[in-house]
Amino acid sequence: MTEVKGIAASGGYAVSKAYVFRHDVQNVLHETVSEDQVGNELERLSDAFSSVKSYVSSLLSSSVGDSERELYSVELLMLDDPEYRKMIESLVQNSFHTAEWAVESATKVFVDALGKLSDEYMRERSNDIKDIEHFLLESLQGKKRSEIRLERDSILVADYILTSEFMSIINPGYIKGVVIDTGGRTSHVALLAKSKGIPAVVGCQTLSSDVSADDTIAVDGYKGVVVVNPSRKVSYEIMDLKIKESENEKKLSETMKGPSVTKDGKRILLKTNIEGLDGIGPTLSAHADGVGLFRTEFLVLENGFDPDDDKSQVYIDSAEKMAGVGDVTFRTLDVGGDKIFKDQPFEANQFMGFRAIRVSLQCKDIFKKQIKRILKASKWGNARIMFPLISSEEELDEALGVLEDAKEELSRKNIPFDEKLPVGTMIEVPSAAIMIDRISRKVDFVSVGTNDLVQYTLAVDRGNEKVGYLYRPMHPAVLRLLKMIVDGAHESGRSVSICGEMAGDLKYLPLLVGLGFDELSVSPPLVLSLRAYLRELDSRDCRTLSNEILSIPGYTEIERRLKEIQDARRTGDKEQG
Ligand code: PEP
Ligand code: MG
Repeated sequence: MTEVKGIAASGGYAVSKAYVFRHDVQNVLHETVSEDQVGNELERLSDAFSSVKSYVSSLLSSSVGDSERELYSVELLMLDDPEYRKMIESLVQNSFHTAEWAVESATKVFVDALGKLSDEYMRERSNDIKDIEHFLLESLQGKKRSEIRLERDSILVADYILTSEFMSIINPGYIKGVVIDTGGRTSHVALLAKSKGIPAVVGCQTLSSDVSADDTIAVDGYKGVVVVNPSRKVSYEIMDLKIKESENEKKLSETMKGPSVTKDGKRILLKTNIEGLDGIGPTLSAHADGVGLFRTEFLVLENGFDPDDDKSQVYIDSAEKMAGVGDVTFRTLDVGGDKIFKDQPFEANQFMGFRAIRVSLQCKDIFKKQIKRILKASKWGNARIMFPLISSEEELDEALGVLEDAKEELSRKNIPFDEKLPVGTMIEVPSAAIMIDRISRKVDFVSVGTNDLVQYTLAVDRGNEKVGYLYRPMHPAVLRLLKMIVDGAHESGRSVSICGEMAGDLKYLPLLVGLGFDELSVSPPLVLSLRAYLRELDSRDCRTLSNEILSIPGYTEIERRLKEIQDARRTGDKEQG
């Protein structure tokens, strides 16, 4: 039995056999292709060379030491070496090797030749060319990477998983838990697991290379603990906790219908974060007040950016199913960051790069098409539209301009839509938070994306487990920004919601109520327990608490104080039986 401590990313318990998924370069099969497949293999090669070149160039531009710089410069020269490229292509054209086999064979010829040279410097270059071989194979195999196909209940154990890989798992119903070597609490795969109620632990270092399909894995997604081959006692304990948890959920779903309101009558809307039509059912069962964040990018991620991949019906069906219950807030595409789309160019710093509204504003035809889909859906229910990653007033104006164009085009064609469809923006970049007085006046509502706001405020990559200890939602600087956003939005008469993970953590609820948030939007499985706690709170006490918290200078003390309140609540529950 081995116990590993990772980062708790999605609550819940599970014990099952492992399904291991790694992205290592796999053994190259020595296969040939038919003559008519040669063109395709050459195209794959050309793509692989381009993507490896841009990867190595980015390594070169971000390298700091002389030796690193020299290494990447030499690798770039080798990638441009016509002899190497010609040999690989000729193996495909004349011997019908697959692209992978051709890369392997040609590299071997070069490595052998370099190894025979008397010059030590040149002999060492054989390592560099092996590096290039590795990058090329990784790129080639990545393009036809093996699928994740589950045949029995499993804990998915992976080195990392792209969101698109997670979305295309075959038989996803068999996933009982997710354990990943990398990633942070708010990386998007962790969020996907959470919204599906699957326990997940991320940042488990090298676990995936130490585990095989014969191993049994126990997961405690609340504590972030993974046990490999647990003893019978540990397995029983975990299963027991799982049974208690589902009994508790059942009890909550029976008692927690009705409005989301504090003891003293303050209404706080509780909405859900969903990724597809399958999130509407859990939203309705949780008696949520609407969908506060529909991450529409997950509708198109598998297929990259195909404007003809018309998911109009999903927009219409979601709005229609929620009609009479609450609104559906469609966030326009937020691709990029850790949601890589097909053929996305490599970027050294994806979270700061070509992402979200920046992509939409550079691909306005696609953006407008999506907006029209949302507008058309507004005829069937209460749809709202929301822009992600707005960082300036100019950017917001540009997005609003495209919305106006889309409305005009629909009107010209007499296509009906809700003229008063509410428009909102996410506040997830510090610059937008600082400009909240001006930005909030231009929209009907704002919603704070704390997952990003925390990473951009603290300069801590939300998906990097190595700096996970610095990712502190309770950092006083973040709390000051939150207060500024709520106060600024209220001064403009706008409602303000929070749809980052912070909203779903019970510990933070009294503070968020005290800060004055009007809505919280969370994964569907969290709505009922939040409502239960909300009904115990008095908003005036929460206000006093938030003032106290805002006066504390450090996150350690803030976290300690909030935990103390939560522990007192638990003790109170136990005493009441
Ligand atoms: C956020 O950043 O808090 C948010 C809700 O958006 P996402 O997690 O999809 O980036
Ligand atoms: Mg975000």
